[in-house]
Amino acid sequence: MSNVKLETPAQYVKGVGPRIAKLLKKLEVETVEDLLYFFPRDYEDRTQIRPIARLQPSDNAIIRAEVASINHQITRNRFSILKVILSDPSGSIQAVWFNQPYLLKLFRRGMKLIVSGKIEYSTYEHSLQLTVKDFEVDMGDALGIVPHYPLTEGLYPKTIRSIIKTVLDKYLDDLKDHLPDNIRQEQQYPKLAEAVRTLHFPKSLNEIEPARQRLAFDDFFWFQLELGQRRKNNQKAVGIPLKIEPDKVAKAINALPFVLTGAQKQVMEEIEHDLQAQHPMNRLLQGDVGSGKTVIAVLAALIAINNGYQTAIMAPTEILAQQHFDKIIKLTKGLKIKVKLLTGTQQKKERTKIIDKWDLVIGTHALIEEQVSFRNLGLVIIDEQHRFGVMQRMGLVKKGANPHVLVMSATPIPRTLALMLYGDLDRSVIDEMPPGRTPIKTHFITQTKRKSAYNFIREKIKEGRQVFVVCPLVEQSEALDLKACEDEAVFLQKEVFPEYKVGLIHGRMSGKEKDAIMQAFLGNKINLLVSTTVIEVGIDVSNATIMLIEHAERFGLSQLHQLRGRVGRGSEQSYCFLVGNPKTPEAKGRIKAMLDTIDGFKIAEADLRLRGPGDVLGLRQSGLPSFRVADIIKDEKILQAARIAAFNLIEMEPEIARNIWECQR
Ligand code: ADP
Ligand code: MG
Repeated sequence: MSNVKLETPAQYVKGVGPRIAKLLKKLEVETVEDLLYFFPRDYEDRTQIRPIARLQPSDNAIIRAEVASINHQITRNRFSILKVILSDPSGSIQAVWFNQPYLLKLFRRGMKLIVSGKIEYSTYEHSLQLTVKDFEVDMGDALGIVPHYPLTEGLYPKTIRSIIKTVLDKYLDDLKDHLPDNIRQEQQYPKLAEAVRTLHFPKSLNEIEPARQRLAFDDFFWFQLELGQRRKNNQKAVGIPLKIEPDKVAKAINALPFVLTGAQKQVMEEIEHDLQAQHPMNRLLQGDVGSGKTVIAVLAALIAINNGYQTAIMAPTEILAQQHFDKIIKLTKGLKIKVKLLTGTQQKKERTKIIDKWDLVIGTHALIEEQVSFRNLGLVIIDEQHRFGVMQRMGLVKKGANPHVLVMSATPIPRTLALMLYGDLDRSVIDEMPPGRTPIKTHFITQTKRKSAYNFIREKIKEGRQVFVVCPLVEQSEALDLKACEDEAVFLQKEVFPEYKVGLIHGRMSGKEKDAIMQAFLGNKINLLVSTTVIEVGIDVSNATIMLIEHAERFGLSQLHQLRGRVGRGSEQSYCFLVGNPKTPEAKGRIKAMLDTIDGFKIAEADLRLRGPGDVLGLRQSGLPSFRVADIIKDEKILQAARIAAFNLIEMEPEIARNIWECQR
């Protein structure tokens, strides 16, 4: 939306100046355009002003009245109570402000106010009383529907309202509506300028929603147009059409220690189709934890390698990269494929020279580093995509000439979010678990049950099973958390399971140390592994059937789900114990969701409801814009309409789509 006038710094708007500009900046408002789109958080309907005589208890009411008398009291514990008698021609009422002693300086007898709040009957005073929620000095200018803007200390409602009025009068005409008329009319939306004005100063309450919807539609439409355009550009790009030799693929599949599930076969077909095409594949592979995505990655890699191209697989942690490496070495045994592991702990020199001669390179984000270059990168696979930002994905993709891209994610994203985040990708879903899995049993236990949980665990270890104990670790209190985790390991070894081997793993260890411990755990030389969330993604030890999560209330819901996914990977019955003391409704909600379902999609929906989209998946780094008006949960229908409209336009009117896309950028 590059219009020079709209980029005018807010400071130069009449009535703003340096002081208020600073305050606005705190609200992330820096330009005229920001002001135009700085919408009220709610509205007050002053057409509903009532005579004092008609007020009833338990009403929320607005009155317009004069200050008749002022009385300030300070309680023994230094609490300020300001009681003001307000009167209008019909009667009078006592209004109360708590803890705002500075208002004493503002109020004077005879001053006219507009006050809203709750009407209650005070048994103590034997009369009605108004507990003030909001008030304003009545200048006679703010009647009708009055917008309430987000505020910050020092910025007054009246000030911001008058600034917005100025901006609307002076700049609204510069706001160009790039949404094609026919799309607008189809949705029966108002024009952009009209919608913006209405959302600031509606004439009646029922004008607000259509205006809001129009602007929410815009938020979605422009983003979807961007995704659609990206997708289109990708389709025009010259890729690397690969040949598929069915015999070779079949041979690789037959060599697997299991039969592919129907879902895996289906997904494989979709990928094969893409790999043969003239333009690069851009596909998201979704599948719940344990659904078997790794083998799909390997099969896709084999196709590229058979065609003489290199494949890179990027994983978010060293442990996971190492694990992929070990598995892939096994799966590709006898295939004469050169597989290499590349992580940040290796010497730089080694990292630079190795890359050329290998067919398949598995690594962490070390793969993106500048000195790493490929001979002919044909396929890029990103595992646990949600751990990487768009930039990191692109960083690896750029190391080839339009390579095929497969991103894999175990984070089951609700449909709405998937459309938002991955609208430029084709999507495949593994919606079926490998056979023979027994659903994990999840229990919530309080401290008092801890002992019996330990006894249960002891029995299982006796049977040969292995155990994860997970402790929380957050950045803010990393040192403390790490200590707690170490203490826990010592305690479990010495006091609880002296007859078994307890191990410890955390992110602060070197790659070598972590690797040694994971190998020992894989070989069942460690019976119980105390860990931070470094084991959260991808770790696959099918003999581990019990997970105990300490302070479960401190983990996010998707994180709990990912952690739980570390067990239940074989045919043995697996168990997940959540230990904790959830206090907030949200924390309780997370635990409840974990007990209610093991379905990743339901978990994701619950997560979205509990936390809102901003936090789910760390969306900010995933490249999701923050919308001005739209709410991805509430406005799902609008999102769908906007998506259809944007993609249709690209399909039917590519020229127009391209033009308005460029205007809007
Ligand atoms: P994720 O999708 O979480 O990455 P993995 O690829 O790690 O899952 O697979 C989980 C486990 O299931 C692995 O031990 C893998 O070998 C096994 N597996 C994958 N596909 C099948 C299948 N079709 N039948 C049986 N086991 C399978
Ligand atoms: Mg995986």
